[in-house]
Amino acid sequence: MDIFDRLSFPEFKAGTVWLVGAGPGDPRLLSLMAVYAIHQADVIIHDALIDPDLLALIPEGTDLRTMGKRGGKPSPKQDEINQELITLARQDKKVMRLKGGDPFVFGRGAEEAFALMDADIPVRIVNGITAGIAGAAAAGVPVSHGTLNQVISFVSAHNPKGTVSELDWKALANASEVIVFYMPLAQIETIAENLLKAGRKDDEAVCFVSRATTSKQAEIFTTLQKCLEKLDLSDIKSPALMIVGSTVGLNKRLKGCF
Ligand code: SAH
Repeated sequence: MDIFDRLSFPEFKAGTVWLVGAGPGDPRLLSLMAVYAIHQADVIIHDALIDPDLLALIPEGTDLRTMGKRGGKPSPKQDEINQELITLARQDKKVMRLKGGDPFVFGRGAEEAFALMDADIPVRIVNGITAGIAGAAAAGVPVSHGTLNQVISFVSAHNPKGTVSELDWKALANASEVIVFYMPLAQIETIAENLLKAGRKDDEAVCFVSRATTSKQAEIFTTLQKCLEKLDLSDIKSPALMIVGSTVGLNKRLKGCF
């Protein structure tokens, strides 16, 4: 396409690794740089989040492998992933590591980049659109609105550094009108309980969006209080986001825009 001829892209050199963000799922949200890299790579190691519709676009003949962490299911250790990337790069391949959303947002992009640098392998990072922004938007929820919030928080509900229970909930609840939780499904009650204890309102709007921007997207709109009761979340499969705050209420008008 004309646009690819008019832009200059860096050479994807053999023996290097590109850590590329794939965006939230819909392949049309890939960056031009990601599309370019997909067509250059010899081998693509993707994580478990990448939607099959996107994988279907990868040119035939590319060596495509899944390697990624998936909550609850057996998944390769980070060291094994790093080692695989290093081995392939040392075989003089053009290695692409394709990660859901943005590699630097709860995606271990920096950890992988450091492991590669420590092995003297050149790395390039290509950003992607993070699910916390585009996934919320796909449900009609903007993460900010001029008169509603000045602060947005992105919170990982599942983190090797600690669980959500250890967060400073008072500070979070007071400072951040809109809070986007990644990986929330095992922690919904804890999240709601802590936000309510920290002073957020019972009837505060909450949105769950699952598999956002894909053909399997599902959403549920509810309130903080109802998160403590038995919510029917059978449609909300991983990966999913939980968004809390006043911008959630804007979905009624924005939903049709996607
Ligand atoms: N690097 C990714 C996040 C990795 S953590 C990014 O920037 O988006 C994995 C979590 O991301 C999931 O548990 C879920 O909370 C969120 N996520 C990723 N893709 C999603 C999607 N299509 N719909 C909803 N949530 C998604």
